[in-house]
Amino acid sequence: MINRGTARSHAALRVHVLYTGGTFGMADRGAGMGPRSGIGAEIADVITRYDELTGRSVELRYAEFDRVIDSAEADPGTAFRIAEWVRYSVESTRPDGVVVIHGTDTMAYVGARVAFELRDLDVPVLFTGAQIPLGHPGSDAQRNLHLALDSIAAQPGPGTYIAFGSALHPALRASKRACDDYDGFTTVREFTPPPSPAFLPRRHSTTTRLPVGLFTVFPGLHAELLTAALRQYPGGIVLECYGSGTMPHGAEVIETIRTATRRGTPVVVITQCDSGSVDLERYLPGRALLDAGAISGGDMTREAALAKLAYLVDLGFSGGQLRDWMMTNLLGELSNPATTTPLPTAFREDALTARSR
Ligand code: ASP
Repeated sequence: MINRGTARSHAALRVHVLYTGGTFGMADRGAGMGPRSGIGAEIADVITRYDELTGRSVELRYAEFDRVIDSAEADPGTAFRIAEWVRYSVESTRPDGVVVIHGTDTMAYVGARVAFELRDLDVPVLFTGAQIPLGHPGSDAQRNLHLALDSIAAQPGPGTYIAFGSALHPALRASKRACDDYDGFTTVREFTPPPSPAFLPRRHSTTTRLPVGLFTVFPGLHAELLTAALRQYPGGIVLECYGSGTMPHGAEVIETIRTATRRGTPVVVITQCDSGSVDLERYLPGRALLDAGAISGGDMTREAALAKLAYLVDLGFSGGQLRDWMMTNLLGELSNPATTTPLPTAFREDALTARSR
């Protein structure tokens, strides 16, 4: 964060704000909190307070979704609507940054998809929201919006971020991990964007988007459940496995995966762990997945893996090309090449000996 001073700085910060809903602007509906529209004047007040606190004036352009939502209602179209608005708004008036006020529940999912959609944009996009609505006792709404403005002023560089609580998170590495803390998000993995962005050939977006899904494995998983998921999501499945990429690997389950990958439905393996990466060659179950045609998703978060798979499928990639791009670090969503990795340093014998001393 930049320091807050009282001296007035010369250039006004030019910021566009898009309000999509979420707790930030919610009100009590009697049967629980629900989204509230028409909060433009309140946002303008928050911006005025920012000006008073920092001495930095802000030129605001404000818009709202026609129908503001609890972000639990987000669907694959939500990220497109946001990305379209941001692109149009940046191309028409070149602001210093764009703030998207969004519900926290799906902020990391939508933020990750927006990051891929806007990967060529040279203006930062800051998602923010709140755990407690604006104007309610203990609200973090104003503070979070101010953090987003501070972040734009600090020129974080192009990319999509989540400004929330006390930190700025790269959307492609962030996850909501707390619903009882002002710091609702964690940067789960290190963010290491490639030195120069990977050249991804542009293809025509398919008009009919094949749905892509997420499936978490668990002890007792029945092959029929996985079959149903793979049928429902022909675009592909992100399979959230155990540890370095294992799962109950009975013959039926593995056959289900093989059948799906053979008919062109990609299966991308990520890990349920917060640290470490998928290595499908370390254990027999992982090897069975690899032989059945699964793709290693390395150390991607579930949100980033889902967004990336959907993005690549929408661009028309399939087969070996899809596999290659899934395993390439495009924007910092992946830190290790998603191939066989050497034994993690922490497991090496010298590290063990050092510990037991
Ligand atoms: N249910 C809310 C939403 O995601 C939670 C929040 O905004 O914090 O829209």
